Amino acid sequence: MKLGGQAIALSPQPLAALLPDNKAALTGRNQPLSPNNIAQNQISNYAGCTTVQTAGDLGQPQFQLTLNGKTVTQLGSGKVQILSPSQLQVAEVTVDSGIARTGSSTDNSRLTPLPKGTRAAIAGRDGDWLRLDYGGWINSKETRIIPGAVPPRTIIRSIGYRQSPEKTEVIFPLQVPIPISVKQGDKDFVLTLYNTTAQTDTFRTDENPIISRLDWQQVNPNQVQYIFNLKQNHQWGYKLRYEGTSLVLTLRHPPDFSTKKQKPLSGIKILLDPGHGGKESGARGADGTLEKDVNLAVSKLLRNELIQRGATVVMSREDDRELSLPDRQKLIDTEEPNISLSVHYNSLPDDGDAEKTQGVGMFWYHPQAHSLASFLHNYIVAKLKRPTYGVFWNNLALTRPASSPSILMELGL
Ligand SMILES: [Zn+2]
Repeated sequence: MKLGGQAIALSPQPLAALLPDNKAALTGRNQPLSPNNIAQNQISNYAGCTTVQTAGDLGQPQFQLTLNGKTVTQLGSGKVQILSPSQLQVAEVTVDSGIARTGSSTDNSRLTPLPKGTRAAIAGRDGDWLRLDYGGWINSKETRIIPGAVPPRTIIRSIGYRQSPEKTEVIFPLQVPIPISVKQGDKDFVLTLYNTTAQTDTFRTDENPIISRLDWQQVNPNQVQYIFNLKQNHQWGYKLRYEGTSLVLTLRHPPDFSTKKQKPLSGIKILLDPGHGGKESGARGADGTLEKDVNLAVSKLLRNELIQRGATVVMSREDDRELSLPDRQKLIDTEEPNISLSVHYNSLPDDGDAEKTQGVGMFWYHPQAHSLASFLHNYIVAKLKRPTYGVFWNNLALTRPASSPSILMELGL
């Protein structure tokens, strides 16, 4: 292969195992296909390595293959450009929740979303995708370039609190909005600020309804980590946003569970999201019954039961209409229910074992939603004597909202 005046030898690569599609986890057939089981003639992967010292445009790579005295050449489909570390462009996130990923395609896993206003240097590009200096990738459509900006870094000194009966807001005053990530545990909430250097001497730690203590450390020269040690091992939702250059973390307080109430669910707000609707009919049963209709009918029955027990119920739809996934997510974020349940009736991959791929399934994404998913799964299976499909961590549009514990239920047979 020729690239920018260099010739790079490509050698045949040892066989690697093949990983099945992500959907294979839903049927339990997710083990790798070992190289021994792959026919030798299926694999023809050649690769080589080189380093390039100077920045600049290296153009298209040219591939050349000589076989039985015959030589063929072909140009690669992309161009290679080495970015200069001293002239990195700076991107700013222009959407409410920028989707950060582990690589340059939607096949790559999601990282903590980047709040609107986040700024970071672009350390690499792949087509439409930008690799930001902290490690995450983002689609350039969710960003704009800040002309002439140098790679953003900030110091942090103190932090501040705002508290209401429903929530605690923690404010991190920064010089510029930098990338962040969140790790939620059973009894802690860990917030990492990238490209940040601490100059902290003191901050206030008054009595708080949910936080028992806040610890922090500079984990490496680029990252400051805040560990919120919590009083209870259940979390009730959080939000992250930039107000100017200050990062605002909202931690929701638990709802009122006092037993003195007239009705057990008084003061509890529950959002029910009947899946699909309108042209989006979802799965189709053997007799032609449409999933969207069952979802709505069951959600209405559930609503009546919840209201009788004193709950306030918000429905994402009450008739047969189309509703986008982002609109459903937005409703959760604005209504801020205490829990959010998306109601579905299974449509499972066809290639599974018919005995095992049936029954009640619960899907969760943020740790704060796990105990709810697991409880409802076990309760419904035991009470209604239904087969179990299982409890799954799953990156779904209706499990991703972080503002309240959000789960998706697959209630089919
Ligand atoms: Zn569905």
